[in-house]
Amino acid sequence: VTDQIKEQLAGLIRDVPDFPAPGVLFKDITPLIASPGGLAKAVEAMVRLSPSEVDTVLGVEARGFVFASPVALSLGAGFVPARKPGKLPAEIIETEYELEYGTERLAIHADALKEGDRVLVVDDVLATGGTIGAAVDLVRKAGAELVGITVLVELDHLGGRKRLAHLGVADIAAVL
Ligand code: AMP
Repeated sequence: VTDQIKEQLAGLIRDVPDFPAPGVLFKDITPLIASPGGLAKAVEAMVRLSPSEVDTVLGVEARGFVFASPVALSLGAGFVPARKPGKLPAEIIETEYELEYGTERLAIHADALKEGDRVLVVDDVLATGGTIGAAVDLVRKAGAELVGITVLVELDHLGGRKRLAHLGVADIAAVL
């Protein structure tokens, strides 16, 4: 991914201070995905940084879906949604993870991943790593194989990569 593409993509992301809480600098990707070519360039860059042999792309609700689905299409893989409680209609596998205040739950359908499936986890932003850690947990609970993690934006100062390191997560790729 060239510096020119990175600059273009970064220029399409809006920084919103103090959203959703004081002190948080929110990376708003809506201008990027609304831009003609913005979404395509972002997805192309994410695909370029991802492993090529992937059976399934796991995307995290809700902004993760926007990137995970076209990444899956491009890799010739399937797409599996990881969702908040109460959204998936059939039998689920779920996991609980820590937020700054309290806990959150994430789930996939119990039959969505097969044992040994090669799974790539995709989200828009890697912040503290809690969400992606939960997605990795779901992949492992399903008996599937995690082959990579790809995000559009990594917020280095929040230490997500460090937090994920103890999970033995190998490949974390970030475009920005
Ligand atoms: P975390 O679990 O802390 O890594 O947070 C990751 C999830 O929260 C991702 O699904 C992001 O969409 C969202 N998120 C966290 N922090 C930000 C931020 N500063 N800007 C935009 N999205 C964020």
